[in-house]
Amino acid sequence: MNYQAFLIKYGEIGVKGKNRHIFEDTLVSQLGNAMNRVDGEFKVSRENGRIYVQALSGYDYEEAVDALTKVFGVVGVCPVVMVEDEGFDKLAEDVISFIDHAYEDKNFTFKVAARRARKNYPLDSMELAAELGGRILDAFPEVSVDVHTPQVVINVEIRSHINIYSQTIPGPGGMPVGTAGKAMLLLSGGIDSPVAGYMISKRGVKLEATYFHAPPYTSERAKQKVVDLARIVSRYSGPIKLNVVNFTDIQLYIYEKCPHDQLTIIMRRYMMMIAEHFAKESGCLGLITGESIGQVASQTMQSLAVTNEVCTLPVYRPLIGFDKQEIVDISEKIDAYETSIQPFEDCCTIFVAKHPVTKPNLSAIQKSETHLQEKIDELMKTAIETTEVICVEA
Ligand code: ATP
Ligand code: MG
Repeated sequence: MNYQAFLIKYGEIGVKGKNRHIFEDTLVSQLGNAMNRVDGEFKVSRENGRIYVQALSGYDYEEAVDALTKVFGVVGVCPVVMVEDEGFDKLAEDVISFIDHAYEDKNFTFKVAARRARKNYPLDSMELAAELGGRILDAFPEVSVDVHTPQVVINVEIRSHINIYSQTIPGPGGMPVGTAGKAMLLLSGGIDSPVAGYMISKRGVKLEATYFHAPPYTSERAKQKVVDLARIVSRYSGPIKLNVVNFTDIQLYIYEKCPHDQLTIIMRRYMMMIAEHFAKESGCLGLITGESIGQVASQTMQSLAVTNEVCTLPVYRPLIGFDKQEIVDISEKIDAYETSIQPFEDCCTIFVAKHPVTKPNLSAIQKSETHLQEKIDELMKTAIETTEVICVEA
């Protein structure tokens, strides 16, 4: 079927009082960005408290729906058939043809919801619904009317043109990106951090990311995997500036100077410090990690407290209470899972101790870090100065 437009349903952003127009404007501009990636020409417009995405040329339906259902703030996408007002008989024909194309199996209950935004239409809403309902029943013997709990609602809206739609494709919900500031995601090649980035971005937050790379212990392919994951997240969040930090010398230095059972924790503290440096430099209001309580030794409550201690910005950990399977489910939903499970080495696994501390003590860790005094500032400075910046876009 040829849908000329999509009606965009949005929920939460509708209730923001005075700020409502800011949210709507941001949603309109994010829908525009999303449609720029789709072949064809589209116009996004606001009309009487509604947002429409109208096709001005031929386009690929699947591709358009895929792009629209990745825009945060969108609760539902209704594909709309737009017809001219050429009298009631023509409208009834159009509605019947709409049902014929949209529903192969016509064994369903329905009602017609008619609305007149233009009061000069000869039938009022009730009459229009009743008359159209009658024509539909005549055309398709299998269907029946149920005005209370219909399986299908056929919406017919009389405006300057006429909109016909019945289907709502679920969107991701959340808030449009750009309504809530920016945060720095610590993005690794694992399953968790892309999901964490997705979840915070869903609340309207723009993302930047930092990846700690340890060549030659981690390969170019491991880095490429992180770039690929950033691209997957950016389908939702919009463009991501990715900082790739060469972390090798810092890791080797920690390995040389500190007890091996504390390596991961000390490394994680330096990661947080460097990520926070970039976060502050670019105006981020917080850090994001994929940590979840108890998942590994470095994510016990004690370990998280010790890692957190080096940060002054808030650290957002949206997966903190999630089980692995719950995280995997979201990872699959956002199409990141297949990429995340590619078996490339991670900079943490290479230097990991056989028996890492699970209940680190802050003063013991700080004491070990004094062994790094001689060179760590210089190494941090070099790591920051040699960081590669990659702009990732879907
Ligand atoms: P993930 O699946 O996200 O890699 P994980 O289960 O492997 O997480 P850890 O390796 O302990 O857990 O990492 C915890 C969090 O620290 C990650 O979710 C990520 O936010 C951050 N992190 C870990 N390693 C890196 C890295 N090499 N670069 C950037 N961030 C990292
Ligand atoms: Mg990891």
